[in-house]
Amino acid sequence: MGCLFCSIAAGDIPSNKVYEDEKVLAFYDIAPQAPVHFLVIPKTHIQSCGAIDESNADIVAHCFQVISKVTRELGISDFRVVSNCGQQAGQTVPHLHFHVLSGRDMTWPPG
Ligand code: 5GP
Ligand code: ZN
Repeated sequence: MGCLFCSIAAGDIPSNKVYEDEKVLAFYDIAPQAPVHFLVIPKTHIQSCGAIDESNADIVAHCFQVISKVTRELGISDFRVVSNCGQQAGQTVPHLHFHVLSGRDMTWPPG
């Protein structure tokens, strides 16, 4: 079975892109949970935060550089970054992604 976010990264499934380079894609979430809600993904398949190791940590660092750059370019100073790891934590797409949420008050702790 194919991976949804690998298909989006490859351009086989369209997305509303915010940023793209050779390693990373950022695109708006199809079901936004805040006025601004986009996802940052590595183009290579990594299952979740639980699969980060020395072989792919550079791409994860790059994802965070992209988060910083894109939020700055969008003029966003206050935002939340979330990565759900595993079913119980709410992960529904098994390809590492960072949610970037902004534009409303955020509660803590999360539900
Ligand atoms: P998770 O639940 O795994 O933390 O996050 C997956 C996210 O992907 C959800 O917020 C969901 O709305 C989003 N999503 C699922 N399918 C698609 C899609 O086809 N396109 C886009 N842009 N977002 C998607
Ligand atoms: Zn994938």
